Amino acid sequence: MKQNFAIIGLGRFGGSICRALIESGQEVLAIDSNEDRVNEYMNIATHAVLANAQDENVLRSLGVKNMDHAIVAIGEDIQASILVTLMLKELGVPYITAKAQNEYHGKVLEKIGADRVVHPERDMGKRIAHNLVSKNVLDYIEISDDYMLIELKVTNPIFFNQTLQDLNFRTAYGVNVIGIRRGKEIIISPKADEQIKEGDSLMVVGSTVSVERLEGKMP
Ligand code: ATP
Repeated sequence: MKQNFAIIGLGRFGGSICRALIESGQEVLAIDSNEDRVNEYMNIATHAVLANAQDENVLRSLGVKNMDHAIVAIGEDIQASILVTLMLKELGVPYITAKAQNEYHGKVLEKIGADRVVHPERDMGKRIAHNLVSKNVLDYIEISDDYMLIELKVTNPIFFNQTLQDLNFRTAYGVNVIGIRRGKEIIISPKADEQIKEGDSLMVVGSTVSVERLEGKMP
């Protein structure tokens, strides 16, 4: 379903969200106070507007309150990011995603009512570090402080040609296998009698401790 998005700040983060939303067929109103950035997105966003989003009248006149979702992608100017998020909330934008520069900034954004706070640099750094430390971890998403989802390449022959039931992941390792990637195919919610083959990778969810224990089984 087509939705209306407002993106405030067209740095690398806001800009890449803008391109991805347009590619997926969404409507995007892009706002930035820097003329070069606005010119860059003039032919990409549905509308690109040169304006200071810290001015409430600007937000009103652009009809931001009628958007389904606003993304505050202002980076360095923490004060502007907080003020704009607050004004969007007061205008009644139904869903606000805001980018945090650090943990304190993130906490403030949550407190003032951002529906989702993202820490792109921190999260990407963690993902890359995880992948560097453990080469069999193909992807990694932190679900909360205590839970994670990873995609893990099966390299230990003790798992080959065994069914999920035989391996009893839930009891033996405390994790749930939610998918198996086999070549180009992905088996979502595999059944208990699904056999693991050499070359498969497993998508597993579990506590950080349990997932790391399973990672340790893949030398
Ligand atoms: P990224 O990490 O995404 O590349 P960045 O480090 O370039 O971001 P900033 O330059 O701090 O982050 O902010 C992103 C964009 O937000 C910039 O293009 C900047 O012009 C814009 N911006 C900052 N304050 C405002 C404001 N009050 N109104 C509109 N745009 C703003």
